Amino acid sequence: EEAISLTDLSQRLGVKANDLIRKLMRMGVPAQINQMLDVDTAQLLAADYDYTVEKAGYIEEEFISAVEDRPEDLVSRPPVVTIMGHVDHGKTSLLDALRHANVAKGEAGGITQHIGAYSVQTAKGPVTFLDTPGHEAFTAMRARGVQATDVAVLVVAADDGVMPQTVESINHAKAAEVPIIVAINKVDKPEGNPDRVKQMLAEHGLVPEEWGGETIMIPVSAKAKLNLDQLLEYIALQSEVLELGANPTKPASGVVIEAKLEKGRGPVATVLVQEGTLKVGEAVVTGTHFGKLRAMTDDKGRPVKEVKPGYPVEIVGLSGVPSAGDEFHVVKDVRAAEEVAKNRELQERKKELTKTSKLTLEEIFAKA
Ligand code: GDP
Ligand code: MG
Repeated sequence: EEAISLTDLSQRLGVKANDLIRKLMRMGVPAQINQMLDVDTAQLLAADYDYTVEKAGYIEEEFISAVEDRPEDLVSRPPVVTIMGHVDHGKTSLLDALRHANVAKGEAGGITQHIGAYSVQTAKGPVTFLDTPGHEAFTAMRARGVQATDVAVLVVAADDGVMPQTVESINHAKAAEVPIIVAINKVDKPEGNPDRVKQMLAEHGLVPEEWGGETIMIPVSAKAKLNLDQLLEYIALQSEVLELGANPTKPASGVVIEAKLEKGRGPVATVLVQEGTLKVGEAVVTGTHFGKLRAMTDDKGRPVKEVKPGYPVEIVGLSGVPSAGDEFHVVKDVRAAEEVAKNRELQERKKELTKTSKLTLEEIFAKA
């Protein structure tokens, strides 16, 4: 796609057209004075003179439409619960136990699937769980102002107590104003001391209900399958209070939970649909990547055609691997998705460039 003529660019940069021609020749690009340049080439040339090239008149909002929800469009959606806590305190084990506790016998085969986000059926309806493989995703989402969690379950090992990442998790959840339910895990261990854990948590502002505070703390064991139903019940109760709703009728949007490159499948991303209904065949843009959804798979490994708000799903068909915490949007077609992705890439390069020139300036001052 041609953006600007070589003559035009030379005038805007205030350099001789011949200089640009020579530069292009050195890059192995045959060049002449009246030639049209594409955005990438113009950008490359301009960068040498500390200028950036921007596409005029591009407005992202024209591609990603914000639909105003009418109250009658809102239907209730499952709560999204993030399991947080210090490494090795049993986050993944607890989530596995919760999933198994509520899976029909015939489904058990599909449960080995790891996608980082799961839908669990409870007596009070479905609940979506996110297993944060660290705090990167949560931190990234917060930095971008993305809110994907309704309730946080803080897992604290009864034998280990409050550790650095426990405190970090508390701070994350508080900053995001997300209610916290504490699961004191590994109470099957003889050396476990739930009271000591409660004491430590109280020192960080989480006072248990039975001590006159407001935080629900449930002793559990992922290993011995202790009190799992009770934990689910409290999660469901907490979620009911929040009266969560979303509009399933508009173009889907949501957030990337995790993503990777898979042999034979290409980029694979687990996303949480937050708004609208996501359908196979739709065009999606996320960060600087885009694509047409070739297929979707649920957390039990089953192919699905569409996904409602509040549910996680694994998608394939993207041009690259997005980052955890990236938002995704459905747009009208793949060309629109590509346009948005390419423009974001351009903006990113521009930012990079500004950073580089700043660095150079600082270096100059440092040397002086
Ligand atoms: P994560 O890093 O928080 O996801 O922790 P994991 O789920 O990987 O668990 C870390 C270790 O603790 C593993 O060896 C688990 O088998 C063990 N573990 C998890 N839950 C329990 C529990 O309830 N009781 C006991 N005794 N061990 C547990
Ligand atoms: Mg884990």
